[in-house]
Formats: sequence, C-alpha cells, structure tokens
Amino acid sequence: MNQDANPMKPSHIEHIGIAVRSLEEAIPFYEKVLGLTCYAVEEVKDQKVKTAFFRIGQTKIELLESTDPEGPVGRFIEKKGEGIHHIAFAVEDVDGALKEAESSGVQLIDRVPRKGAEELSIGFMHPKSTFGVLMEFCGKDS
Ligand code: ZN
Repeated sequence: MNQDANPMKPSHIEHIGIAVRSLEEAIPFYEKVLGLTCYAVEEVKDQKVKTAFFRIGQTKIELLESTDPEGPVGRFIEKKGEGIHHIAFAVEDVDGALKEAESSGVQLIDRVPRKGAEELSIGFMHPKSTFGVLMEFCGKDS
C-alpha cells in the first residue's frame, strides 16, 4: 500500500483531549504553572462538553468539562476519573479517513464526520479497535 495515499495518515497531532471536572479549576494550572494561554472556551452541545484550548506548537491541548453526567466525558470521568480522554490526528480528509478505517476493519464511533470545536470536522474510532486509546480524526473538510 502506498502510505502517502492513505487518508488515515496523520500530518501531526492536532490536539490531546483531557477530561477535567472543572475548567475553572484546571485553566489556571495551564496558564500560571505551564505559562500557556487559553485562547478559546467553547461549548460543544453535541458532545455535552465545554472546551478550553491552549496551543503548544502545532498541537493543542483541549480541556473537556462535561455539561451532562450522562454525556461521554461525564461517563468517562465517572468511570476513570480525570485524565487523557482522546488523541486527535490531523488529516486532510476526515470522511476519507473514516471510510478507510472502516474498510480496514476498525470499529468506528462516527461513520460520517460531524462538527467539533473550532468548526473542524471530526470523527472518532472506537478504543476497542485502537488498543485502548480513543482516537479522533480532525480536519477542515466538511
Ligand atoms: Zn477532540
């Protein structure tokens, strides 16, 4: 297989999603201790989260606070506590990446892309198929 033609091949890590109980409590750690700047706070209703973003080079940290105990991040914190929730790979074509993943036998959470924070297209692969890590494809396509 020509690796360059693989739509799943990430160009870089777009962001790392970290589940926190409270943005208000977590943001000062990133700003005052690590010296980063929170440049956006955004609610993503679809995912029942409020997000806060920090840039580290090409990569971002996405803090996730649940807005609903039954939402995905609410349930994650209930089960596992705070911590790394997912890793997002930057790809050119999220739809193509999801299709390629599916045809490779990967179990998907999203069979078609949806809108995530920052108006990006996103789609998740199921951690059952990715050695325990929730993985997201993330890109600018629609
Ligand atoms: Zn994400």
